[in-house]
Amino acid sequence: MSTERPEVVARHLRKTLLARQREFSFEEFTKLIEVLRVSSERVLTEAFFAPSKLDKGIDPVRDHLIHSYLKSISDPVSWRNECKTMLFLSTVKSNEISTHPSTIHIIGAGLAGSEAAYFLAERGFDVVLHEMRPIKKTEAHHTGQFAELVCSNSLKSKSPVSAPGIMKAEMRAIGSLILDSAETAQVPAGDALAVDRDVFALAVTEKLKNHPKIRIEHGEVTAPFEGENEITLIASGPLTSEALAGWIQSATGADDCYFYDAIAPIIEASTIDMENAFIANRYDKGGEEAYINCPMTQEEYYAFIDAVMTGEMVPTKNFEKEKYFQGCQPIEAICATGKDSLRFGPMKPVGLTNPTTGRRPYAAVQLRPENRAKTAYNIVGFQTRLKYGAQQKALRMIPALKNAEFLRMGSMHRNTYVCSPRALRPDLSLKGHPRVYLAGQITGVEGYLESAACGMLAATFIAQRLKGTHHHAPPSNTALGSLLSHLTLTEPKNFQPNNIQFALFDPKFYEGTDGMDRAELRETMSKQSPLYLQAWMKSCKEVFEKTN
Ligand SMILES: Cc1cc2nc3c(=O)[nH]c(=O)nc-3n(C[C@H](O)[C@H](O)[C@H](O)COP(=O)(O)OP(=O)(O)OC[C@H]3O[C@@H](n4cnc5c(N)ncnc54)[C@H](O)[C@@H]3O)c2cc1C
Repeated sequence: MSTERPEVVARHLRKTLLARQREFSFEEFTKLIEVLRVSSERVLTEAFFAPSKLDKGIDPVRDHLIHSYLKSISDPVSWRNECKTMLFLSTVKSNEISTHPSTIHIIGAGLAGSEAAYFLAERGFDVVLHEMRPIKKTEAHHTGQFAELVCSNSLKSKSPVSAPGIMKAEMRAIGSLILDSAETAQVPAGDALAVDRDVFALAVTEKLKNHPKIRIEHGEVTAPFEGENEITLIASGPLTSEALAGWIQSATGADDCYFYDAIAPIIEASTIDMENAFIANRYDKGGEEAYINCPMTQEEYYAFIDAVMTGEMVPTKNFEKEKYFQGCQPIEAICATGKDSLRFGPMKPVGLTNPTTGRRPYAAVQLRPENRAKTAYNIVGFQTRLKYGAQQKALRMIPALKNAEFLRMGSMHRNTYVCSPRALRPDLSLKGHPRVYLAGQITGVEGYLESAACGMLAATFIAQRLKGTHHHAPPSNTALGSLLSHLTLTEPKNFQPNNIQFALFDPKFYEGTDGMDRAELRETMSKQSPLYLQAWMKSCKEVFEKTN
């Protein structure tokens, strides 16, 4: 934000808005938001909508903004969203908004595509769900089932006072196939919602295959369907096939957006040495004890670190820069920041007491059950791109894993995403291709839960368009709204994939939060968010009504 006074900026923006001769630039919109944040009501009323200058009836965009501003004078968040909506709508050409019967093609039956297909089909829309597996595989999926989880089996925290917990509450309120199926397939994992991945994927697949409004087409799709009565939602994920990725790249020009994701190894349960391990949840949280903890002494820890740091890695291709997603860094990248970093990351011993010694271990590796039968365990946070031989050697230095047999080794993949704030409009449709929407990890959300949530958002916006109602986004004081703001309002040059976290929620958008400490603030946000979501759902309830 420049040093210009808010009212000066507001006046300039008002002029630009009213002129409506061109689309608002990102910088202008950022300024507008900043003005809304810092301005008093008086400044806004006088500078932005000086009553003496009102000339109603000339400009519908301005009329709408004035009306909604006056109505929601005590609610700057919804007014801000109204502004965003109207700015967006003012750039949408009238022939884009079609209420003709349309077929919605969804490319990819992963987390986002499955959630979106279910949302739209339940509201009576005809959906064709295209999935290339099992005819064409990706580097990470192993089955032909929909919503296959490719790495960990966790959909993050269940705690209502956590960002993923708030997101779950909101998705549940809307009606989420992914969450319903996850709850059916749940395995014990303390505070986390972890699933038996086969039971989970089967539940999603059966529901979609048997839905009367969904037709399944197996095979690779290489470009969107852009016929007059067709809408396409691209939800082809981080491992989008090359041909379709080529189309997206040519449509967005985004050739610089990729990062690496790593997979953690999975271990055969019967080969874990329980003499050197103990079962406990960190801080004894979350009911049934779920984690197998593998304690290490100081000496064992540093010997392990040396093996990781000297182990041979799979090389990156020479045109690829090493860019990792912060929440999914491989252990060797964490080690490179310091020999003790792993002890403060995935190997942290806090909240654990080794019953054999009665003390907290120097470091600990946690294993989480992969399935209900507990025949397989995932090493939590142990993504790695060490070569298989080096991986086995290092991991077998952990005393409880000295005889471990690996059902799957860790590995790395290049993931592709577009620069959403540059490429997408506020309703997640592609600039220049108004009938093509994007959802899931390809938009730069990160994680299973977030991808499903993004599918739900895109489906909501498609339903709004086909029902002929205005684009109306969830406000930024909800988890869904803050995820959307991340995608559409981040400054493009700073855009990075992100998962849902409190950092995306702006405390300014919540009531009475001034002076609160962190714990109190989070508690308050988690109570208010679902209420804001309900208000939003009520304000566009026709989109959420099911047909049967
Ligand atoms: C290696 C790896 C490890 C990961 N580990 C984790 C983790 O531990 N925890 C976590 O929360 N998230 C993890 N992620 C991120 C997670 O995969 C994604 O967040 C999530 O699966 C993305 O959901 P999605 O619906 O966008 O894509 P996906 O679930 O990948 O679904 C996309 C679907 O599109 C299909 N498809 C692709 N191209 C085409 C085409 N041209 N035509 C037709 N179908 C097509 C694919 O076969 C796939 O089924 C990982 C990602 C990768 C790649």
